[in-house]
Parts: sequence; structure tokens; C-alpha cells
Amino acid sequence: MATVSDELDAKVRLAAFSALERLTASTGGVMSREAMTQGFTLDGERMPFALRARGIWKPKLLGPHGAALSLTTASIRKGTKPRYDDQVASDEGWFEYRYQGTDPDAADNRAVRQALERRLPLIYFYGVGPGRYEAIWPVYAVGDEPARLTFRIAADAAGLAEPLLLGGGTEAPFKRYATSLVKRRLHQHRFRELVVGAYREQCTVCRLHHSELLDAAHILEDKDERGKPEVPNGLALCKIHHGAYDANILGIAPDLRIQVRADILAEIDGPMLKHGLQEMHGQLITVPNQAYMRPRVEYLAARFERFKAA
Ligand SMILES: [Zn+2]
Repeated sequence: MATVSDELDAKVRLAAFSALERLTASTGGVMSREAMTQGFTLDGERMPFALRARGIWKPKLLGPHGAALSLTTASIRKGTKPRYDDQVASDEGWFEYRYQGTDPDAADNRAVRQALERRLPLIYFYGVGPGRYEAIWPVYAVGDEPARLTFRIAADAAGLAEPLLLGGGTEAPFKRYATSLVKRRLHQHRFRELVVGAYREQCTVCRLHHSELLDAAHILEDKDERGKPEVPNGLALCKIHHGAYDANILGIAPDLRIQVRADILAEIDGPMLKHGLQEMHGQLITVPNQAYMRPRVEYLAARFERFKAA
């Protein structure tokens, strides 16, 4: 029998998940800190998805023995050197989530344990850029390691004998992902946020300043063993210049000069060709201020060889 508190719990989670679905529909899953704090509405009252000050969040409404609703990773601070994310890069089928503090029985940690024991779905906010998080749901606490002060969090319920019953068994309107897929997506989003941020949200070729129209392009592709998703292997490019770069319509020489392919330079067409491509020929790309974020010359050179051969 579902108790009153089970029903209330299911109601809170369903409201949160539906609101997330709506809020992230056009962002590919990325959310701002503000939107997380602003939260969702339940019976006319606003409730945060997460709180700034803590990693583990349980709405008060769920009572002292309630289960956590969300987990948030540390945010990525502006201007700090981005680290390679071992967690996302690892092949393990789970994320490790550090306890709040060192007391396994602290209220926040108990709230996660409640979710684990009751197999309740959680939201995981994973920092992908300064003040920006990827919202992943549902995730489950699938393991508890007090000796290491960590929980294991997975996007699939593989570790659970009888996964996700929301209160009375409600079928929740959410998508399900395998943890490995989630990690791949996080990897891409993190790379995009870091690169676009490093280029101050401008296309390196034309300086277009519209985040929605910007991509993070790889200089060396994933399949190249040097092609790591790190800022020095990335370029912030608008959609047009990303397409042109990938199609070898334009290349970027190791001295940071843009080269447009000869047949394209000779063509006669409308303003996009003239201003968007031909006039870029011979210009210097705009690079990040900090040297460690600039494109690595070795990568540019290797890629430029392929452009010349095209
Ligand atoms: Zn551009």
C-alpha cells in the first residue's frame, strides 16, 4: 500500500520531472543556476530543483525522513583552468558522488540513502560550465560506500532488482538513458561550454556573438588519438563556419590565418559567400586571451595539411 507520504513524494518528483522536460526542451538538457534555484510549481507554490549552498537537496515538504530530490556537482568557476573530467571519461557504469561532509549519517546523506532504499528517481545536475549544469534524470542511487564517503549514481537502474516505482506505480513522463550514453552527452556538452566560454561566445572566424548559433568544433577529430575534447583542440565556430571548416571550404593555418579554398574564392554568388566566406580569406582568427586555451599549433598544422590536400 502506498502511504500518504509516498503519494506526496511521487507528486513532487513528477512535477519536477515534467518541469525539467519543459525547461530543457530547447537547451539540449543544459540549465542555468538561476533556473535551478527558481524551480518548479507544485500546487501553486514554487519549489527549487536544487539550492545553491548544497549539493544534496531535499524539499522540506518531504519531511525529516524524506528522500533527496536532486544532487548537484561542484560548479565550474569562471576563469579557472578546466580540468580533464576523469569521472565523465571513465567507462564505469556509474558516477561517484561524494557525501556531504564526512558524517555518513548527516541529514543530507541520509536523504540520499532514503532514495536508494526506496528506489526513488533523482535529478543529477552536472556542472558543464560556469553556472551551467546538465540536468540528468532520472538517476538512481545504486550503491553506498561509507568507507569512501561516496554514493554510486547511475542513469540506468541496472543495479536495482525492481527499479523505479514512483509512489503508487505511476508511469512517469521521462526519458531513460544508459549511464554510458549520459556520459557521452556530458562530454560533448562540457566540451562545448568550455570552448565557447574560452572564446567569449564568439565565432573565431567572424566574431558572431550569438551563443545559440555557436558550436565547439574539434580541430582533430575524436578518432585521432590526439583529438581529446580539450579546449586547445577546440574552436568556437558559428554554424556556417563550422560546416565550412568540416567540409574543407575554409582552413585555419598554424599561424592562425584563415584560408578559403581557391575554387570558392573564384565563385560569384550572394552576400553570404562574399562577406561570410571570401572576405574571411587571409584574416586572423580570434583566440582566447589565456595562452593555455589557445588552439595548439601542432593540431592546427595536422588539420591544415588535410585542408590543403582536399
Ligand atoms: Zn562565423
